[in-house]
Amino acid sequence: MTSKNLTELTKFYKKKRSERIDALENSGFLDTDWKESLENNLHLPEAIADSMIENQIGTYQLPYGVALNFLIDGQDYVVPMAVEEPSVIAAASSAAKLIGEHGGFQTVISERIMIGQAILTKVSSPQTAMDNLKANEHEILLKANQAHPSIVERGGGAHSLQIREIKEGSSHFLIVHLHIQTLEAMGANIINTMMEAILPLLEELTEGSALMGILSNYATECLATVTCRIPTHALAKNNLEGEEVRDSIVLASQVALVDPYRAVTHNKGIMNGVDAVVLASGNDWRAIEAGAHAYAARDGQYRALSKWYTAENGDLLGELTLPLPVGAVGGSISFHPGAQMTHHLLGNPDAGRLESIIVSAGLAQNFSAIRALVTEGIQKGHMSLQARSLAISAGAQGDEIKVTADLLRKSQHMNLVQAKSILEDLRNKRLR
Ligand code: NDP
Repeated sequence: MTSKNLTELTKFYKKKRSERIDALENSGFLDTDWKESLENNLHLPEAIADSMIENQIGTYQLPYGVALNFLIDGQDYVVPMAVEEPSVIAAASSAAKLIGEHGGFQTVISERIMIGQAILTKVSSPQTAMDNLKANEHEILLKANQAHPSIVERGGGAHSLQIREIKEGSSHFLIVHLHIQTLEAMGANIINTMMEAILPLLEELTEGSALMGILSNYATECLATVTCRIPTHALAKNNLEGEEVRDSIVLASQVALVDPYRAVTHNKGIMNGVDAVVLASGNDWRAIEAGAHAYAARDGQYRALSKWYTAENGDLLGELTLPLPVGAVGGSISFHPGAQMTHHLLGNPDAGRLESIIVSAGLAQNFSAIRALVTEGIQKGHMSLQARSLAISAGAQGDEIKVTADLLRKSQHMNLVQAKSILEDLRNKRLR
């Protein structure tokens, strides 16, 4: 990636949409020949939409924006997000700014290994079956790889096997895991093809009955970890000393580790950032959501996915690990205009780099939410942005949206009834 002119992005949020697009071009994140796609609102052609799903009757749009100030492993990024919720992009950008001023995000990506499962039942002699499977590991892997030779030619493929036995009441399952490298792809279809292809051989080797063969979305061998460090003096807010804010953030982290009711909301905040980038990048956000929440419960209790704690020198340290089996190719990534734009704005990252960006967005979002909660409360910033949504819901159009939202922010009650009343007054005054 070439160096970026970040000063072009100053006061980005105050610019008009066309000026923001120009600023992205001038800063070096957006190539000129990609501008038109943004100017056309990332239009999804009808023929593509119709071929993507069944019974297609329209396209469902979401706002698409960029979170700014992300310094990840020494590299500057604007992070595209597709999201309907106000405040997500503002919160991510403000956390990334603070974290970026103190070294930014550091990430570690594990080897990207995906898991395929074959589930066998009615195995009368499990121990003999397991011995047979182990003795024939090479043949099983060969058969899997023959089912999708192109991934092997690229340097990936199935490379090891693990056997698990689960007894539940009168049911007994023998579960065969293949560890598969799908390289730049998430690999769902590659894995499913391989797993279905080996079922007859597994039945033969176990004298059992194959129930199914499919990938596991619990991608425990494809983990992304991000850390950051913030000095206490940078945490001071709302007349609170930096140490006080740090200690409250650490306490908030601790309660989210031990209380599932708090942990779910804590993790929802993380997924605000994660999902918005996963969706913008054309990846399968249901897969990421399902895997993340299972990982949050990996020791038997649902817990916070992130951790905030105090360093020896008093700095605040943040850490987040997520299973992130995302792809840089595959699915709709190569033809969906929004997904293509995201990969372009991010400098065409490989799948591992994309993981680094997504997990950083999750930690940034988490920091903003917790810091707001333990200082001014979340509603101040949130409702201020929510005012625009309320104004639109009340029926405001064009310049009425800003005027109604501004008046709503100053009013005692910020709700839909109030928004409607403000809009009615505004229209009456304009008629006079
Ligand atoms: P694809 O089926 O599109 O497979 C990826 C393709 O990318 C491969 O077939 C491969 O082509 C090509 N490719 C090109 N370059 C590379 C490279 N460097 N590394 C790897 N592949 C490369 O996508 P996935 O298999 O990733 O599946 C993702 C889709 O599956 C998502 O849309 C998801 O929603 C969906 N899905 C999800 C499920 C789940 O999560 N449970 C279940 C079923 C589907 P070639 O064929 O030449 O090897």
